[in-house]
Amino acid sequence: MSDCIFCKIARGEIPSKKVYEDAELFAFHDINPVAPVHFMVIPKLHMASLADADESHAALLGKMLVLAPKLAQQLGLDNGFRTVINTGRGGGQEVFHLHMHIIGGGMIPPMVARS
Ligand code: AMP
Ligand code: ZN
Repeated sequence: MSDCIFCKIARGEIPSKKVYEDAELFAFHDINPVAPVHFMVIPKLHMASLADADESHAALLGKMLVLAPKLAQQLGLDNGFRTVINTGRGGGQEVFHLHMHIIGGGMIPPMVARS
């Protein structure tokens, strides 16, 4: 997609703090981190959200999951990390190009606050 911000980042048309790149995937630091380490893994293929995934994307999605712990390790997240994929407006998604957040370092609170 020509006007998608994450497609532009993956193509190098918008600058980012790149963590990793290969033929299919791109990873970069979040511009507004919520923890000491906060980066995202995206497919270079434009897909608006996880809701658009089907069987044909299974290998690509698997590669994203396998890459995440490797990059987390490289960035010093020895003690663990959180992966988040927000899907659709109801899931809090703001950028409509599939992305997986990897968040860690410091104290990561429970995912959902219980009152
Ligand atoms: P989500 O709410 O899951 O759609 O997350 C979108 C994320 O993209 C947010 O955490 C933003 O801080 C991040 N973001 C938006 N624009 C940029 C950018 N140009 N470079 C890096 N991260 C970005
Ligand atoms: Zn895109």
